Amino acid sequence: MARTRRPLIAGNWKMNGLTSDALALAKDVAAGVSQAGWTDRELLVCPPATLVMAVAGAVKGSGLMVGGQNCHAKASGAHTGDISAEMLKDAGASHVIVGHSERRSDCGETDAIVRAKAEAAWRAGLTPIVCIGETLAEREGGKTLAVLETQLKGSVPAGSAAAKLVVAYEPVWAIGTGKTPTIAEVAAAHAHIRKVLGGLMSDAEGVRLLYGGSVKGSNAAELLTAGDVDGALVGGASLNAAEFLAIAKAV
Ligand code: PEP
Repeated sequence: MARTRRPLIAGNWKMNGLTSDALALAKDVAAGVSQAGWTDRELLVCPPATLVMAVAGAVKGSGLMVGGQNCHAKASGAHTGDISAEMLKDAGASHVIVGHSERRSDCGETDAIVRAKAEAAWRAGLTPIVCIGETLAEREGGKTLAVLETQLKGSVPAGSAAAKLVVAYEPVWAIGTGKTPTIAEVAAAHAHIRKVLGGLMSDAEGVRLLYGGSVKGSNAAELLTAGDVDGALVGGASLNAAEFLAIAKAV
């Protein structure tokens, strides 16, 4: 079945990478993107903030995009150790991940904070990838769809439009564990997300919904062709160029 939304395969390198290894990885992914000449899908890598500018320079002209993993809600000011969306844009980023579950749990980021960061991304001219997802306890308690709805309503800013928003569904229990939901569970979550988005914006049908959580080359074809899945947010497997490109090929 032909896709109506262009898939996005986004790699989240997390806190991994020193200059030489990171640039080698970025160049390998960029070479794969150039060679494939894809016009029907987009690839993005999100290195640590220290490497955004160098990676953006190294992959320039290849078609591979570069993003940040987090940003502060403010454009500048007395926020020691933080980085603004404007700084990411200045370094060559086109996207920024906001509300990743590791930031929600490690740094206490609430839906309201995530929403402010998504607004900051727009202010700077970046596309936010807003992450949501249930914990294992929430899934086992039958609360998955309700949790996703609450997170979406709290994290997606007013004034959203498909061209400036990506949502990533990442079950917390599937991140970095090798466990994945069933295809039916992914499809049900994505269908619910799109329905909730329909109440928040007029062109929800155009928003790209990524699945994230233990995606790898060997399970990508199955996971990413589930109903309403428009690509992937990939952690561990994005640190290997061949594996990341295999995921992109499988879409
Ligand atoms: C992530 O951190 O966004 C992620 C999906 O990680 P992994 O692919 O390693 O599960």
